[in-house]
Amino acid sequence: MAAGVVRQTAGTGEKELQELNHLRVRFVEKIQGLVFVLKQRRKTVRDVTLAVYEFISEERMQERLSEMEQTFQERGELARAKEYAQIYRIVLGLFDKFVELLGDERISLKEYCELLDAGLEEAKVGVIPPSLDQVVIGDVERTRIRNIRALFFVGANDTLLPGNTGAGGLLSERDREQFLKGDIALSPGPKEEAYIQKFYLYMNLTKPSEYLYLSWSKVSGDGKSLRPAYLIADVRRIFPALTVVDEEKRRMPEHEITEKTGLIKVAEGIRDRQLGISDEWKELYTWFRRERRSGEEVKQILDAGFLTRKYPELEPEQTEKLYPDPERISVTRMEQFASCAYAHFLSYGLRLSDREEYEFEAMDLGNIAHQSLERFSRKADREKMRWEELPEELRDELIDESVEESVLDYGNTVLFSSARNEYMISRIKRLIRRSVWALTKQLEKSDFIPGGYELKFGSGKIDRIDICEDKEENCVYVKVTDYKTGMKSFDITALYHGLQMQLPVYLNAALDVEQRRFPDKKIVPAGIFYYRIQDPVVDRKDSDEDVEKSILKELRLDGLVNGDEQVVSHLERGLTGNSLLIPVGRNKDGSLSKNSRALPGEAFRTVLKYAKQKEQDIRDKIRGGKAEAAPYEMGGASGCDYCPYKDICGFDIRIDGCSYRRLEKYSMEEAVAKMTIDTGGEADR
Ligand code: SF4
Repeated sequence: MAAGVVRQTAGTGEKELQELNHLRVRFVEKIQGLVFVLKQRRKTVRDVTLAVYEFISEERMQERLSEMEQTFQERGELARAKEYAQIYRIVLGLFDKFVELLGDERISLKEYCELLDAGLEEAKVGVIPPSLDQVVIGDVERTRIRNIRALFFVGANDTLLPGNTGAGGLLSERDREQFLKGDIALSPGPKEEAYIQKFYLYMNLTKPSEYLYLSWSKVSGDGKSLRPAYLIADVRRIFPALTVVDEEKRRMPEHEITEKTGLIKVAEGIRDRQLGISDEWKELYTWFRRERRSGEEVKQILDAGFLTRKYPELEPEQTEKLYPDPERISVTRMEQFASCAYAHFLSYGLRLSDREEYEFEAMDLGNIAHQSLERFSRKADREKMRWEELPEELRDELIDESVEESVLDYGNTVLFSSARNEYMISRIKRLIRRSVWALTKQLEKSDFIPGGYELKFGSGKIDRIDICEDKEENCVYVKVTDYKTGMKSFDITALYHGLQMQLPVYLNAALDVEQRRFPDKKIVPAGIFYYRIQDPVVDRKDSDEDVEKSILKELRLDGLVNGDEQVVSHLERGLTGNSLLIPVGRNKDGSLSKNSRALPGEAFRTVLKYAKQKEQDIRDKIRGGKAEAAPYEMGGASGCDYCPYKDICGFDIRIDGCSYRRLEKYSMEEAVAKMTIDTGGEADR
């Protein structure tokens, strides 16, 4: 088409030409306004959008779309009709967004076309297949349908009903009432949420005219058992004749099986083959084997079902290359090896580790708290004063300095990067203040004095060694304390199995250090302790003294004590009743109470000797190339619980060749008896 007239080609009659010319004129008239804007050089998104919008309204496009919707509806093409019903709204929505976001931006016609294309590509037309018989899936609160014949209500578990409507939020019910009195509208609180949920339940459950099925899961996706919601008990109370059908108890022929679910059943049958194979399963299996389409998949299932996992041992040359210095093996490393040799291989052999993330984690808090305490101890030493002699002001000053220096030193500027983290710093300061207070109280009542802080030995680090010189007896008592930020507590069975070796290994090292310092004295092990760095919250008490006692009780050292009388009396002078400082108590006659975590001197030394032997044993095994995935399992906990390699190690107890090493739990007496046998009777020191 030329600008002014329609060119006449051969075969075009005069009448046709006139008609075409007429159409051309109409077309040009219609788009004139639009073209005028589109041709402008300095147009904005708003200008173009407005012009297009005016064009659309002049052309009565909305009406025309609804006419087409109507036509489709009459023709019975309901899905099409629904599509046409949405188009106008979608396009206008898009225009609104253009103007809102880019209104004053200058734009070329080409760019505008691209923008429009991209917008329309993203637009979605939602159509629920409309027909007389249909299945609609929806949630309780948002689905609005009438004339339901059968309702399948799934997920009636107490995790979803009432769900977390009970989760408090910041405001209590009383706060909410106060706001209400002041005519301040709030979003629904837990109580209202619960009523709203009940209302929706009532609305939905009373809708079906013929059938209502309620179902719930017995186990969650991660294998935890689940309970039915209160709703089930309510319904059963109202209709006592109702029976519960257990899906698992229904035999295979009673289930609807599709090709997909059938394959799952085949796989389950292979997995649980030890429990016996039913005739139905055999039939299903044969059917799938015969089918050409699924034959290959069945073969894969068989391969997977009969897979046997083998974790080979490392060759001596490999071990030498991977672990060049087997004598410098940290306690943490030994503990990991005792937990799972494969996890140890992945960590220390292949050196796999989590990707470092720029955030402040609980572990960082622990590290900084550790460093701060160490710094404080050194600063206090420099003042040449015992902790209990430091004036309060100076003590607080030293604590603040220690924490700030530790944070700076930590090299993780993320700590200063947000208000939350600044709060963390003040929290660490509080923690250290509380710790220094408790540790000072512990020192006040004992004859021990700090003998060293954060002493390095081999590849380990002892947080604190305390010693007590007894000139009369010509001996030096030694105890070690490790600071912990987690909830770890001392467990003699874990020590027996090599899972918790830290404290006795540290004490053995400390005894050697002290023996070198006091070569002419008898060195006596006094105790191994964990001190939990925490700031406990205790109930309000009548007097400050009682509050103090409760806090000290919470911060009491955990561990094991050499129960010989001279040792206990040095650990806490004049102890009567239960100690607030160490894990022992005295009966009225002065003997140690049954709950005391103490062993006679001889047995205590056996524990230390056993730890030494275990250490050597683990070293030998590492050197021997042991790297199998055989994680321990003891009392419901296992090596895999917090293992970072869960997703890559391939350990799965359903696979042949994968099984836990089941470890037994022992009482203190049993564990010591076993250690005595394993060490060949007598202790060394
Ligand atoms: S997940 Fe379990 S088996 Fe796998 S490496 Fe960790 S502890 Fe070992």
